[in-house]
Amino acid sequence: MSTTWHVLGAGSLGTLWATRLARAAVPVRLIVRDSTRLQAYQAAGGLTLVEHGAELRFPVPAETPDSQAPIHRLLVACKAYDAEQAVAQLAPRLAPDAEVILLQNGLGSQDAVAAQVPQARCIYASSTEGAFRDGDWRVVFAGHGFTWLGDASHPVAPIWLDDLDAAGIPHEWSTDILTRLWRKLALNCAINPLTVLHDCRNGGLQAHHCEVATLCGELIELLERCGQPAAAENLQQEVERVIHATAANYSSMYQDVNNRRRTEISYLLGHACKVAARHQLNLPHLNQLESRLISRLHSLGLPSD
Ligand code: NAP
Repeated sequence: MSTTWHVLGAGSLGTLWATRLARAAVPVRLIVRDSTRLQAYQAAGGLTLVEHGAELRFPVPAETPDSQAPIHRLLVACKAYDAEQAVAQLAPRLAPDAEVILLQNGLGSQDAVAAQVPQARCIYASSTEGAFRDGDWRVVFAGHGFTWLGDASHPVAPIWLDDLDAAGIPHEWSTDILTRLWRKLALNCAINPLTVLHDCRNGGLQAHHCEVATLCGELIELLERCGQPAAAENLQQEVERVIHATAANYSSMYQDVNNRRRTEISYLLGHACKVAARHQLNLPHLNQLESRLISRLHSLGLPSD
């Protein structure tokens, strides 16, 4: 019998992973916030995956954090700003050999979680899959993509990657996961805040070429200073390619702001500015971008952390 996956957070990515694991008959359990959410989940009768217009429901068993059974494998699928506290709650349940897989975007939350659970092996993930909720306990698989997983302190791949093969979750073990996460963070810093400030789709940034180029220059300085030169290679060309290839899309930060949801700014642009300050690196345009974004969030009545 293979090890049970505990999925913490029944949002977009948590549901996408839990339903695909359940579809492959891999044992999986969902951890929801509290007994009210558990009752609501049980009334709904399971998680629904909507893919290519077809709906499939999976009655994945669920529990609350204060359930007693030990956890050997935990997939953390909440937002970066919730991850540390959500995992801290579960720390007493983690078995001595526990593995914790972190799906959060950006950087900063992973280290905060790892510090909460020093006994566990923490595996960081970077995903280009896209999903959104079109109702409680339902997810629409909107963008097929890829997930890289890695452990910065231990290069050997875990055996449970077989479960991902069985579940049809495209993935690769990465020995440079931090470089991948930094690269994605840099792309995000060069694109997402500007789409909010200029109130535009990604393609709208083609009209702000100089501003994007200046930010890329500062991001390259930052990546080189913090020991991530590979993440800096051809950054500007890739930023321009992404702006062009996704011209019709709204960035995830734009969508959060538009839907009046809290953004993950502290783990993206905020993290970049914090690391630059730690290295005593003066990056005026990046700092100004952060101030402008924080002011915009304040003016909209949204949290700025
Ligand atoms: P989401 O839809 O907002 O889901 C987060 C879930 O975590 C929510 O269901 C929330 O519960 C739950 N949660 C928070 N605190 C909890 C706690 N203490 N106990 C139990 N559950 C808790 O977020 P998401 O879009 O899946 O994103 C998750 C992470 O993946 C983010 O860092 C995001 O940037 C990254 N990511 C997402 C995508 C995507 O396409 N969605 C793609 C790549 C990366 P409630 O429902 O009760 O609020």
